[in-house]
Amino acid sequence: MVYFLYARKSTDVEDKQVRSIDDQLAVLRALAKGEGVKIAAEFVEKRSAKTPGRPVFNEMLERVEKGGARSILCWKLDRLARNPIDAARVQWLLQQGTLAHIRTNDRSYYPSDNVLMIGFEFGIANQYIRDLSANTKRGLHEKAKRGEYPTSAPIGYVNDKGRKTVIVDRGEAKIVKAAFELYAEGNSRLEDISAFFFKNGIHTKGGKPLFRSRISVILSNPFYYGHFRYAGDIYEGKHEPIMSKALWDKVQTVLKKRGWQDRKENDPRAFCGLLKCGECGCSITAEIKVKHQKNGNVHRYVYYHCTKKRGVCSQPCTREEALSAQASEIIGQYAMPTDWASELSKLADKDEREVVQSSSLANQAMREELDTISQKLQRLFTLYFRDEDIDRDTYRREKELLLSRKKSLEEERSLLHKGHVAWLEPLREWLKDAEMLGETAVSPDLRIKKSSLQKIFGSNPSLKNRRIEFNPLPPYAALRAARQNFSENQTSSVFVRDGRIELPTQVWKTRVLPLN
Ligand SMILES: [Zn+2]
Repeated sequence: MVYFLYARKSTDVEDKQVRSIDDQLAVLRALAKGEGVKIAAEFVEKRSAKTPGRPVFNEMLERVEKGGARSILCWKLDRLARNPIDAARVQWLLQQGTLAHIRTNDRSYYPSDNVLMIGFEFGIANQYIRDLSANTKRGLHEKAKRGEYPTSAPIGYVNDKGRKTVIVDRGEAKIVKAAFELYAEGNSRLEDISAFFFKNGIHTKGGKPLFRSRISVILSNPFYYGHFRYAGDIYEGKHEPIMSKALWDKVQTVLKKRGWQDRKENDPRAFCGLLKCGECGCSITAEIKVKHQKNGNVHRYVYYHCTKKRGVCSQPCTREEALSAQASEIIGQYAMPTDWASELSKLADKDEREVVQSSSLANQAMREELDTISQKLQRLFTLYFRDEDIDRDTYRREKELLLSRKKSLEEERSLLHKGHVAWLEPLREWLKDAEMLGETAVSPDLRIKKSSLQKIFGSNPSLKNRRIEFNPLPPYAALRAARQNFSENQTSSVFVRDGRIELPTQVWKTRVLPLN
């Protein structure tokens, strides 16, 4: 069989722990040689796989589709994809049999493999990216705790990139303070303040007056007297205030009196922050409308619509009931049938037992070899220093060989400990989540529905012509495909493609091969 070799490492943070491209190439070439397979072409890419659209990767898949090679050799599955789109593409080629084999450093993937498991491994690669971004957020929280404003400076201030702090922009700060003083008098509307800013050269990037909502954000920003809000909390800043708290407080009183502070913060607008507009990409926000009927009945409706911040957008409003019904329908499609869940968790248990067993055998063999190496080193040392039966060059050469083998063994041992069982825990979590979706689909709780949708999609779904559009994460995509192809009681056939009946145990097996 002919293989394409693919090696990838980006300079981005998510690839920091990954072996260098040269290392990947060396190991994979050795692997090919050891197994007597031919490499038709090598593809090397130095880009992140966070987002779809890597040129070398795309070229390789095109050549696979044209029949250039039916198998791929790569270090780990996450070299091929760290995003749902590319992952789905690879999975599809494999499920179709266009790709006959993906061989990684320690595993093999075949068209007959369990689609859910491959989907899940890609899912981990994707999850890793999301965890990283959560870590970045944590870093920003730490910064906030130290009193350093973690995001871009508000009007009146500028970010000092060199010193990584926020400093006062003297000109703008004067105007901001004057605006506060003007509003504190109690005779200005938010529009008037916007006009005041405009007259003094403070406007939107497009040169238009600031929106009313933006003005109310500015007027209620505690940053100006020395504190700041970040992710829902308030922190004491290290930056220089530009006004007294007394002036700021006075402005808050006026805001309240004029009604702008009354922004219904506890509204039950559950789906806010979930959807993006499918036409222009702006956020979807919600609005509550109250209708009074003549007979005295009062009806409350929640409407979701595009914020239209980027200008013209033709999208209509959508009622909350309509969104909730769609959410239920979608969630229902991704629910894991209970039979499948219990079957998969049995497989996971079995896999764990096998991995533990085979790794403890391998571990023992490695420990024995390490002991032998220590003895040999000791003997070599004695020979050279006491008896001087061997010359210096031989001594050095032998020592180098032994130490090199020792290092390799130690590395393999630590990989063995870390690698092989680590993914089972997230798998079990996923099974639990996916099984729960059946209940969520019929629950009236909109917040639970929202969080389920976020788990299925990973990124934000969009809303277009009142329909939710989305790309599910790989494990969920695979689950849904399986649900469409098999009925719920076909427990064993779901684990193979094309409906062939095979015992699940034969299909889903970790293939651990020696590293060198
Ligand atoms: Zn829009």
